Amino acid sequence: MTQPLLDDSYDYYLARTRNTSEALRTMVGNASELQRLYDNLGYGIESELKAGRILDQIKSRLEKGEPVTEPLDELEDSLRKIWSHFTCRGCCLGHSLPELGDAEKKAFVEANPSPISEEQWRWHRNESDLYLGVEIDRLRNSSNEDSETRLKHWDEISKAVHNALVWLFEQRTQKELGSTEECWRRQGRLEELNEFLNEVVSHDRNRARHKFGLGKKENSLFRELRLKEDYEITVEFAKEYLERPWAQTPWLTRYLLVDILDAQLAINPASELGGGRSFWISAAVVAGVVLAFLFGFKWIGLAGIAYLVLKWFLGFWVRCKFARAQTSLQLVRDEVAELSGFDADELIRRLRQMEAQWPYLPSITYSLLRLGSGRAVTSESTG
Ligand SMILES: [Zn+2]
Repeated sequence: MTQPLLDDSYDYYLARTRNTSEALRTMVGNASELQRLYDNLGYGIESELKAGRILDQIKSRLEKGEPVTEPLDELEDSLRKIWSHFTCRGCCLGHSLPELGDAEKKAFVEANPSPISEEQWRWHRNESDLYLGVEIDRLRNSSNEDSETRLKHWDEISKAVHNALVWLFEQRTQKELGSTEECWRRQGRLEELNEFLNEVVSHDRNRARHKFGLGKKENSLFRELRLKEDYEITVEFAKEYLERPWAQTPWLTRYLLVDILDAQLAINPASELGGGRSFWISAAVVAGVVLAFLFGFKWIGLAGIAYLVLKWFLGFWVRCKFARAQTSLQLVRDEVAELSGFDADELIRRLRQMEAQWPYLPSITYSLLRLGSGRAVTSESTG
């Protein structure tokens, strides 16, 4: 059972996301294998995805200039229902039960960990470290501001929700496991997983923005440089991924593999040979040939023509060679992306054959192919 990789409609959505938390939710929301990676660490990603759906609704209302009070209430309510008093020692009961002593308040909240009442929530949402309440209030009170500013408030809420849920997870883990090594390991891994996926998804977001013309306009030289940089970054991701067995899952392996192959296909090796300087050399030779004939240096003119013909043939041959390699690389890429799964041995054999004709094939491609075939490390192992 393989899960489809993301398609153009996802790319378009990704390109339009406003921040990395949103981009991450978009990606994880589309791939149940990634959700399982979070589940393995004990992080309730479904709470974040649910909050994300309400945040989406708020965003689209902001874009249309509609009121957002109602979905904001819903967002707060859904957060309140999963909240626990981890660090409050009964502080949230300050107004409602002033007659209780500190120890009694503490005992009361420990006996009723969740869900907390709306009154108790008011204290928790405004806890200084979280900024959640502050950001939500900013958007609530911004009805006179323009939509771009309000969307910036939305960005801040989106990040604050993510941070609050991570905070909740950390507190819970600490409570469950105490200050043991295991507890820190789990938190550290969640952080690593978030960071790794964040980087991958922001990089893809940047690419998607260029793809749909939402990014900065760039001339062809900068485009070429960006594609090369893209390619190098993608290979870096793959290396990091191979070092994290607990983050490995077939879906992500295929995703990175397709990414690497796409990045390679985007760089056209033939264009490097026929690039800017080569064009000016040819132009100079043509001018030289014309001048040589005009002034009667026939042999020099003929030598110039011979040079041009040879260069043209060489260019043609190189293009043919790369075109063949490019076609086989495209086929390999399509097979990896396909739902039915792929035969790693067969693909490795084909890539080895074309390796000599393609200047960019990194060895990591083979490692990913072997991993994707399930022969190396599996997603169950915890390294
Ligand atoms: Zn409390």
